[in-house]
Amino acid sequence: MSWLEALARPDIVALRAYEHAAWQPALERLHANELPWDPAGAASAEGLNRYPEPQPIELVERLAALYGVEPSSVLLGRGSDEAIDLLCRAFCRAGEDAVLVCPPTFGMYAVSARIQGAGVLNVPLSPERGFALDPAAVLQRCTSTTKIVFLCSPNNPTGNLLEEEAMLAIAAGLTARSLVVVDEAYIEFAGRASLARRLAQWPNLAVLRTLSKAYGLAGARCGALLAAPEVIALLRKIIPPYAIARPTLIAALRRLAPAALAAGQAQLAVLLQERSRLQHALRALPGITRVWPSDANFLLVEFADPQRALDRSAAAGLLVRDARGYPGLGSALRISVGTPEQNSRLLQAWS
Ligand SMILES: *Cc1c(COP(=O)(O)O)cnc(C)c1O
Repeated sequence: MSWLEALARPDIVALRAYEHAAWQPALERLHANELPWDPAGAASAEGLNRYPEPQPIELVERLAALYGVEPSSVLLGRGSDEAIDLLCRAFCRAGEDAVLVCPPTFGMYAVSARIQGAGVLNVPLSPERGFALDPAAVLQRCTSTTKIVFLCSPNNPTGNLLEEEAMLAIAAGLTARSLVVVDEAYIEFAGRASLARRLAQWPNLAVLRTLSKAYGLAGARCGALLAAPEVIALLRKIIPPYAIARPTLIAALRRLAPAALAAGQAQLAVLLQERSRLQHALRALPGITRVWPSDANFLLVEFADPQRALDRSAAAGLLVRDARGYPGLGSALRISVGTPEQNSRLLQAWS
């Protein structure tokens, strides 16, 4: 038995995947019970009358090149949220297994685990050390039923990168015992290389990437799991067969064309400038007790009177995220960096 077969749910390892309609674009399709006409009445580039290619190879290859991995290490999904869900379902036996998370962090790891009937172990990040990861505490907490460790770097909602050495120490300590999933939804804002370059060395390491944040395609729902080919092959068995809709594929390919990539870099530069401007200006405002450093496109800010700040930003027509529900963040709001005009309006509302 391979390490992966020992780690994953035995029934998923044994599962025979659904056989979706064959993808043979050279032949005309009379095999998938589709309508032979486009909804507009004629064939169009969108091809919306046809089921989409299950893992569209052109996009898989583009993202593999972008992220610096082999195409066999890429699984596309409806946002990285779908990959989180698939991981929990493939690895956690309901009522028996658990995932480990480091709060305060992104809520979907725990939600997906609970939907699957898995337990959730918490090893908090340390606010005293800038929300740093504690690899020894994580390793100590893991047992033979801890199937997945979710790490988020830069972390949502605290904004900080986790130390690479600490994450790799966890991957090394859990070799063949647990999957270590590093969620890099915000890595493009961080000025640090992705951990994807270490995948070949650590088969139990996986990285989540998304087009939702820095690439501006949150509405298209497209993300990727980067992992060892055997992990990808296992998850391909359980992902719904037509996960990537045609409009999503078209939007993603358009966004990854060279001219769009260059335009995106320019947007990113403005955003990083605005992050820094907002950070400095917020620190100078009365009633703000702390502005945490950020490696992402948002800022975690603590207020003397957070409710009043929420009310005042709403009165200015701006919605910020109430972060008070996160453990240890009782007076914090999370602010996405907006356009220069929006950021100025927010500062005005809080002055
Ligand atoms: C926004 C976010 C995601 C979700 O990304 P999608 O690709 O849109 O599903 C994943 N992880 C973190 C930490 C996020 O903040």
